[in-house]
Amino acid sequence: MKIRAAVLRQSPVLPPFSTSRPLSIEELDLDPPGHEEVLVRIAAAGLCHSDLSVINGDRPRPMPMALGHEASGVVEAVGPGVHDLAPGDHVVMSFVPSCGHCLPCAEGRPALCLPGAEANGKGVLLSGERRLVCDEVPVNHHLGISGFATHAVVSRHSAIRIDRDLPLTEAALFGCAVLTGVGAVVNTCGVRPGQSVAVVGLGGVGLAAVLGALASGAERVVAIDLAPEKLEVARQLGATDVFLASEEGVIDKIRETTSGGVDHALEMAGSTRAFDLAYRITRRGGTTATAGLANPVSQFAIPAVSLVAEERRVLGSYLGGCVPSRDIPRFIGLYRRGKLAVDRLLSSTGRLEEINEAFDLLHEGKVIRHVITFD
Ligand SMILES: [Zn+2]
Ligand SMILES: [Zn+2]
Repeated sequence: MKIRAAVLRQSPVLPPFSTSRPLSIEELDLDPPGHEEVLVRIAAAGLCHSDLSVINGDRPRPMPMALGHEASGVVEAVGPGVHDLAPGDHVVMSFVPSCGHCLPCAEGRPALCLPGAEANGKGVLLSGERRLVCDEVPVNHHLGISGFATHAVVSRHSAIRIDRDLPLTEAALFGCAVLTGVGAVVNTCGVRPGQSVAVVGLGGVGLAAVLGALASGAERVVAIDLAPEKLEVARQLGATDVFLASEEGVIDKIRETTSGGVDHALEMAGSTRAFDLAYRITRRGGTTATAGLANPVSQFAIPAVSLVAEERRVLGSYLGGCVPSRDIPRFIGLYRRGKLAVDRLLSSTGRLEEINEAFDLLHEGKVIRHVITFD
């Protein structure tokens, strides 16, 4: 079938994207779903900083690639071997397909699925196939989804069924921002009621972590960013303390306010400076977690003795350490009971044709989550 999709043909491309226009809206051929694959009509797809990292070259990926990894939609058709999804089902996509059989999957850590990571790196579906074609040349899939498109064929293991009465525009956010941000708090850090949490970097994932910390019963939630407007948003969401990262003496101020540092500090900006700040505001015996994807050549240094003498823990968090089939319904349940204000992360919606302009807004920090809607 013919679809319309946002295709990145080369990387890096630098902003302003309204002039450099990295994404072209193209008519592509989409092959029917193969074994254990489903055809999804995309309803909504969110713009994420990881998409920006593919465009600006921080995350090198095979080109050309149809972008988009945070999406929701409705199943239109299922391929052979799919018995647990049917046409009409509403789904949220998870950006790591999990095979269910490799060692990480067997250990209950599907975010680390080996065949899933290999397929994502190559720009293919879990089956090893590409279903997107332009003038008989295959187009790569982005993290098994390619959600900036009217339709997508994805692995059955990339799609999580959700309740049909949840608006699909909000549902899309659960696929990346919420899984990564809330998951880092509840799964990776295991925040307990009464603890203190700091979040460094307040994009969609960072603000989702703020929401996750509040839902976990954290007593202090400290929000830190370089942009004053982001601090204001965090405060409105319920952060108890906010700090400008560039403020003189910010580390001492945070340590003072939190009586020696926080129990859990989360780096959500993908920068080593943000990680350094997060490490320095973590208390003795505390945990510093990072879920921001830094450039592959970035390194960070920490005083080795502090790990031992202060019993520090440093943790990485991919996909929030989530089991998507368990956590997406769980987080949606929290949202519906008013305990996770995910709708407050949704800044604006727009058309596929205006995606380059929307990436400028994301790059300039003017939106938290901008969602492309199709109808
Ligand atoms: Zn993302
Ligand atoms: Zn696996």
